[in-house]
Formats: sequence, structure tokens, C-alpha cells
Amino acid sequence: MTKQTRKLTTVVTGRATSDGSGVKLQRIIYQQHQKAFDPFLLLDEFASDNAADYIGGFPSHPHRGFETVTYMLEGAMLHRDHLGNEGHLRAGDVQWMTAAHGIIHSEMPEQENGLLRGFQLWINLPATEKMKPPHYQDIAAADIPHLSLANGGYIKVIAGDYISDTETITGVTTQPLYLDVSLSPQQTVNIPIATEQTVLIYVYLGDTLVGAAADILTAGQLGQLENGDNLQLASQQQATRFLVLAALPLHEPIVQSGPFVMNSVAEVEQAFRDYRDGVLTL
Ligand code: FE
Repeated sequence: MTKQTRKLTTVVTGRATSDGSGVKLQRIIYQQHQKAFDPFLLLDEFASDNAADYIGGFPSHPHRGFETVTYMLEGAMLHRDHLGNEGHLRAGDVQWMTAAHGIIHSEMPEQENGLLRGFQLWINLPATEKMKPPHYQDIAAADIPHLSLANGGYIKVIAGDYISDTETITGVTTQPLYLDVSLSPQQTVNIPIATEQTVLIYVYLGDTLVGAAADILTAGQLGQLENGDNLQLASQQQATRFLVLAALPLHEPIVQSGPFVMNSVAEVEQAFRDYRDGVLTL
């Protein structure tokens, strides 16, 4: 059967905000997008070579009900949690943290100057998994499958089974595909995709032609592609880099308050009480 290439249906642009202890960042996906972009809850991009923009980091804070995926492009972050886990994230490294029932952690820059750049993505968990024990996977840059494309580009596979016989994040109920794609000038890539999956493209360098009509997404824009089983993505006269985020929607109620994402207001209130009472992580 011939493949049907998805079309661009929605474009959003990040807004400048700050979180943690004054970390300046661009919030690309936020609460008002959560229904349309189900199961993606949040996408932050941090990028600065001014230490004052990031040095405060994200001191101790809780999460419950979802997964966080941190992908560093430049710089270094130290992750610590209530169980005593420590992860040193450097350029190209990924941390996949399933907060589930509850974690309390800090995410602090490990550098006092220089460029800090990366992404944090939040992916929702189904109701049946929101109260499971937390889990971490730190994935070193060298262990992330890297597919070289003809004519100079490449695809890094952070999650999903885009390249067979390679170890990436799999077994997650939403079946996420997380790719970091780099295209040389005038290069095209086609990526097969399940028709049920929510698909988002976030461009962070140059312009990318996306979808059946070759609409242009410029750096800083995120687009949703719908209706089809193929993604067509291309560069123009300049190189481009973008993230491909795909996952199965959950079709469940989403109630977020701060660091907790549950299915009802009562469950979120319980999470605040559990955190206050010191039992969030028990
Ligand atoms: Fe966090």
C-alpha cells in the first residue's frame, strides 16, 4: 500500500518564561496544548551562554504521574534524587525518568560558565501507571543509536525502534519515538509512523520543510502533523536540525497543578498532601 504523508495542521511558538530557581527558558508545549498534543505535556528548551540565566538550576522539587526526558545538547547537569541516585548529564546524554508515584529531585548545572543547551520533555502516563514505583535510565551519548544518512545528515534515536537491532528506550506504554534529526542542505528524509500516533516536529536550527505540502517550520516553531503513516521532512539551502516526537495518545482526563499531573483534581490534591506529609515517595 502506498504511504500517506502527514500534513502540517498546527504551529505553535515557544514563549519565554523561567522555572526552578530563575532558569530562563522557552516553553514550547504548555498546559493549553496538552489535549491536542496528548500524551505530550510540556516541552522546554533551555539555551544560554550567560550563567545568570541558568546557574540557579532546579533545586529540590517533586513530580508525580508522568515521565520527564532530559536531552542535553551542550553543557552539563547534575541530577540527584531522594533515593541517592546521581546522574551527570553531559552533551548528548539523555535521562529518562519515570516519576510515576513520586520522586523528589534536583537538576543543577554543573558548570559556572559557557553554553548550556538542551530540552526537557514531559510525557504523560496512563492512569494505571501513575502510581507505580519511579524508575530512571541514564543514557550516555555514545550509547544512543546514530544513523548516518546519505549526503551528510544523521538521525539519533533516543526512543523507539526506528533502527532495528539497536537499544533505545522501548516498552513504554505510549510507545514514544524521539528522534534528533540533522539534515545537510537540500536533503530529504522519510520516516514511517503509526497512524494512531500524535506527531510533533520541533525545529531548533534553520528551516525545515514538513509534511505533504512542504510547509516551512522555522527555528523555534513546533508543528503537529496529522493523517498518515509517513513523515516527510526536508532542508532547503541551509542545514537544519529538529526533534521528531511521536507517541500514542492516552485519551484520559488531564489535571495538572505544578509538578503533578493526574486524572482528577482529587488526585492532584492528594499529591500535594502526600508531598507536605513526606509520603509522596513512599
Ligand atoms: Fe524535575
